[in-house]
Amino acid sequence: MSCKVRFAPSPTGRLHVGNVRTALINWLFAKGQGGEFVLRIDDTDLERSTKEYEDGIKEDLSWLGLKWDDTFKQSERFAEYDKATQKLKAEGLLYACYETSEELDRKRKIALSRGRPPVYDRAGLKLTDVEKAKLEAEGRKPHWRFKLSGQPCEWTDLVRGPQSIDTASISDPVLIRADGSYLYTLPSVVDDIDAKITHVVRGEDHVTNSGAQIEIFRALGGTTPQMAHTPLLIGADGQGLSKRLGSLSIQQLGQDGIEPIAIASLLAKIGTSDAVELKDSLETLASEFSFDKIGRAPARFDEKELMGLNAEITHGLTFEDAKERLNALPMGDKATPEFWTLVAENLQKVDDAAVWLPVFFGEIEKVDLEAEDAAFIAGAAEHLPEGAINEDTWKEWTNALKSETGRKGKGLFMPLRLALTGQAHGPQMNKVIALLGREKVLARLG
Ligand code: GLU
Repeated sequence: MSCKVRFAPSPTGRLHVGNVRTALINWLFAKGQGGEFVLRIDDTDLERSTKEYEDGIKEDLSWLGLKWDDTFKQSERFAEYDKATQKLKAEGLLYACYETSEELDRKRKIALSRGRPPVYDRAGLKLTDVEKAKLEAEGRKPHWRFKLSGQPCEWTDLVRGPQSIDTASISDPVLIRADGSYLYTLPSVVDDIDAKITHVVRGEDHVTNSGAQIEIFRALGGTTPQMAHTPLLIGADGQGLSKRLGSLSIQQLGQDGIEPIAIASLLAKIGTSDAVELKDSLETLASEFSFDKIGRAPARFDEKELMGLNAEITHGLTFEDAKERLNALPMGDKATPEFWTLVAENLQKVDDAAVWLPVFFGEIEKVDLEAEDAAFIAGAAEHLPEGAINEDTWKEWTNALKSETGRKGKGLFMPLRLALTGQAHGPQMNKVIALLGREKVLARLG
């Protein structure tokens, strides 16, 4: 049987490196097996979900090349969730509770102070019909909890190996809020059953949920998919990424000029036994994917590593490849193949060419040099060899300057580089001056 997976974001924000890694792992696994990848929009929280974010998520996935074979929204399937609710209620597995959140808090505190785990005491289950009617007459609306079996729930996780969640040690999960809205737990199971999902692949923050959800799969008579829970991402500093996820949104990385395949190459390999290196396509990454390679330690996401991969891509781009993005930069329409060949090696991303466009095609801000260096620059024009500048001119020129002034090494080259390009680093100067041409060189020395 071919596999079918789903990626199930809530449209309450754009995708960031954390949730896109889950999407990627699902996609790579499915495509490596010739299976299907479904995009499910978890929008049961109608207040916080927006169409704008839904479109944004689709844009992010498309930009990364993660095409979906099918997509649907939970908000279109309330009738199915209501049916499942009826079934669970009829079987006595979904029961009404009336505590307010303050009351629940108090119960938790009391349990903790008595050294007991803060597990819900199932008071709702013990209420008689008369008591319930009384509470409702007071204006209380019930929320609904799923009755866990109290037995260990076991499965073999494709990443974590044998798992056992003792459902006696967790609270019966709330499936329906007092306002009648569904939490994601039940809809997710109903959808996985109806869509015939074969593998649920998600972050390890969902391991405990899986204990409850497996029991719901069984209660609804569905086939429980295989489960894979991947370790979460941490930053290069070993800290969680949650606070920085805004700046690590896929949209932002794209705007910052990061190539989709650099992101995919990094996210597919961190936390695995494979080396992180640039890959040519998602298909290659899919052919190399295996749950066995994913380790148990958190995966380290290092932006420097991402930049390194991106630089590697940038260096390999032809002028044709880069042209469209160059065109979007100020003066980018002036860029030539010679310009691109010269500067590409110095760029981490195409947009970094913005620094070099004015150097070659516009004006640069004069760098304030020390008085001695300024005097050296003022006299340098005199020694510039006659005629058009070519790639040999630099050597001839700097040799002449060396014997004239006694300067050498950095003392000789740096003031020239600064005066001619406004930058302390950059491409080889013999090529720089050849591309600049005589007129610009003389103007900048003057
Ligand atoms: N909407 C849920 C989340 O984003 C989906 C979890 C799942 O994959 O089941 O956490």
